[in-house]
Amino acid sequence: PVSEAERLHTSSILKDGIVRLGSNENPYGPSPKAREAIVASLNEGNRYAFEATTSFKKFLAQKEGVTPDHIMIGNGSSELLCVAGIGVGLEGKRVVSPFPTFRLLMDFAERMGATWDRVDVNGKLELDLEKIASAVRSDTRMIFLVNPNNPTGTLIDFNAYQNFCEEMAKKTTVYSDEAYLEFVEPSQQRSMVELIKKGSDVIVSRTFSKIYGLAGLRLGYVIAQPDRIKQMSKYQMGGGININQAVLAAAKACVDDTTFMKMTREKNATARKVLEDYLTKRNISFGKSHINLLFFPAPVDGKTILAQTEEAGYQIRVWDYAGKEWCRVSIGTQEEMQGFVTALDKIL
Ligand code: PLP
Repeated sequence: PVSEAERLHTSSILKDGIVRLGSNENPYGPSPKAREAIVASLNEGNRYAFEATTSFKKFLAQKEGVTPDHIMIGNGSSELLCVAGIGVGLEGKRVVSPFPTFRLLMDFAERMGATWDRVDVNGKLELDLEKIASAVRSDTRMIFLVNPNNPTGTLIDFNAYQNFCEEMAKKTTVYSDEAYLEFVEPSQQRSMVELIKKGSDVIVSRTFSKIYGLAGLRLGYVIAQPDRIKQMSKYQMGGGININQAVLAAAKACVDDTTFMKMTREKNATARKVLEDYLTKRNISFGKSHINLLFFPAPVDGKTILAQTEEAGYQIRVWDYAGKEWCRVSIGTQEEMQGFVTALDKIL
């Protein structure tokens, strides 16, 4: 049976006909509950979201087991990555991260004067924790990590990851970007928030753009020690009123919607397998992905593959890493992935 979310998706396929496999979005979002809440929120559309933001912060604090002073809400987690990067940059220090990874924080840090030390992932495209540890110097201001990582999709075992974050946070601030955490089976999901509760200098960020399917509505948050939150808040655009009523209502309505999240996780795994099976058949290696993307060496040069997949009606991304070009393909619906594989097969 076609679920409500799928039916809504089918009726909203992009007008220009391009299937978007470029930005790791959730093809089934927003969930029916979120859509309903958005419509109801229009009644508050003439009001700044001061109260709604404060009340959402309290709600999140309760959910995460911290105080509202430990939380900062942003217009997507991108805004929070930018303000954290600006802070590091203005201090003129260094930020260490794996490479490749989601680079926004480092880009902002560099623009403001910091130095970015990149540590290549290992042969399995996993974060190399030992090498990251050895790249930390006395003037390292932050370690930036994403687990599961974008664009590789790989996951570090949470015990190893937590021990690493705890040790490193004794030397410098550790930023753990958990944008894709909810794609991991719930029994295995572990947030680094536990370390914040124990007093560690860790910043955790989350987003409503991925499993919750609200990328176009913009909402993310960080959890950190209150001092860090104060520091980051100094650089927030609009002084904190750039959050809209619609997304706050939507987020509250779907944050605990385990049915929608389970549906997305399951459909994502089935659709991802379509591309995994094809790549395996063609002998193209790829990182073991735990999320809604696959990362593999570009089978023909990047410019050509981008042009030809776009010509066939699919938007993907190309990344440079280790002297090669790589394709990052976000996972769409099963039908979209079947179409993509057929198109790729014609190109190859
Ligand atoms: N963090 C990671 C690891 C991402 O991959 C993305 C987007 O792709 C973001 C953060 C930014 O998401 P948003 O600004 O939509 O919350």
